[in-house]
Amino acid sequence: MTTETTETTTTEKHDIFSDALLRLDQAAEFANIDAEALEKLRYPKSILQVSIPLRMDDGSLRIFQGYRVRYDDTRGPTKGGIRFHPNVNLSEVKALAFWMTCKCAVVGIPFGGGKGGIIVDPKKLSRMELERLSRRFIDRIADFIGPETDVPAPDVYTNAMIMGWMMDEYSKICRRSTPDVITGKPIPLGGSLGRDDATGRGAYYCIKELERIKGWQPADISVAVQGFGNAGQHVARLLQADGYRVVAVSDSRGGVYHSDGLDVPCLIETKNRTRSLNAVYSAGSVCDCPVCGSEGPQCEECHCGDHDGPKNGKISNAELLELDVNILIPAAMENQITVENASRIKAPVIVEVANGPTTTAADEILSKRGALVVPDILANAGGVTVSYFEWAQNRAGYYWTLDEVQERLHRIMAREFNSIYELMTKHGIDMRTAAYAQALNRISEAIESQGTARYFSNGTISK
Ligand code: GLU
Repeated sequence: MTTETTETTTTEKHDIFSDALLRLDQAAEFANIDAEALEKLRYPKSILQVSIPLRMDDGSLRIFQGYRVRYDDTRGPTKGGIRFHPNVNLSEVKALAFWMTCKCAVVGIPFGGGKGGIIVDPKKLSRMELERLSRRFIDRIADFIGPETDVPAPDVYTNAMIMGWMMDEYSKICRRSTPDVITGKPIPLGGSLGRDDATGRGAYYCIKELERIKGWQPADISVAVQGFGNAGQHVARLLQADGYRVVAVSDSRGGVYHSDGLDVPCLIETKNRTRSLNAVYSAGSVCDCPVCGSEGPQCEECHCGDHDGPKNGKISNAELLELDVNILIPAAMENQITVENASRIKAPVIVEVANGPTTTAADEILSKRGALVVPDILANAGGVTVSYFEWAQNRAGYYWTLDEVQERLHRIMAREFNSIYELMTKHGIDMRTAAYAQALNRISEAIESQGTARYFSNGTISK
């Protein structure tokens, strides 16, 4: 079923998609946006909902529900990940697709925004069930996606291997090799060097710009990272290698804290040791780290109780968010900082590596307190930027070195960070509003160049 949507339903008034749209009005005031362009951006271009029958290993049949939303393609093919998660729902996929539209415009890459997802707990599937589900989903959405229309990528609980299966399935349907239909693939199947750590690295480049502007000494800066998947691991690793003190990290099972700083490579090794599928479904948890986690023997260097802050050892996800650190990095799921906990968040700088971790109402509380929030549509845009590089390499059939990828990513992230920071300072607004204003300027320019009422009601050809 493909529906061209013209209105949102009343039941969605207070949901995540409606909340996401509130940012549009806030930013429109500071953007050079045509009223028609603003109106157009309130509605996804098209929505596909599919049922995916899956033969389970025990012979039974289960039907899974999946979605793909193409939000806006004025600036280019729609682009965005596919998520496998039990909480996937249409409102969330629409919000994520809207954010992708803004994200691609923020970093100036020639894509619109899209997103997809399947309602499934992938940790409960066998590897063969997971492969069949991934391939069948592509079978169901094949008419909706394509290298020049809509280009998926990994998202929560999907990875390079899954992208490889999906690309192979699409190629079979088209009877030709189509590496450019999906990004985030394994390198031997046309993936790009530097795509695996691109999301974390993009956030790291944002923090390096802040370091320069604020004159930080890395050793003085404490960091807490909520979420220890691909993006969280890489940003923690890069920051620690630069001398930052990563004092807390957490995953869905809980977190660990050490006032002197954690051993990030040890945590990554522990988290990934028992993974059941490359870098995605880790049965290991940061809480099991023999050096830092309290489930193993305590680290010899650990001075539990020697200081005023929280005790070294295990902490909960909620405690991590409220730690008195210099930088808080939410790198897990949406809606983590809400009206419930926003007034207790102490970090002066929040770098959103997850999509949508802060609700609009919570944002106002943070902003009143003077916190600097580097918004998701900028902070996590490194992933889609290198996805663009991957797509361009696939289409050219010519591959870049890791240095080339990282150097071009760095240039884009630093350029866009600084232009948004300037916009923020110029108008005295928060960084999120500035990022949306920058995105809206670029999207509106594209929409307006096809003509709006201002042009059509005039009736003359402009010279
Ligand atoms: N899922 C990632 C995001 O939310 C990457 C999207 C892509 O590379 O297309 O930005």
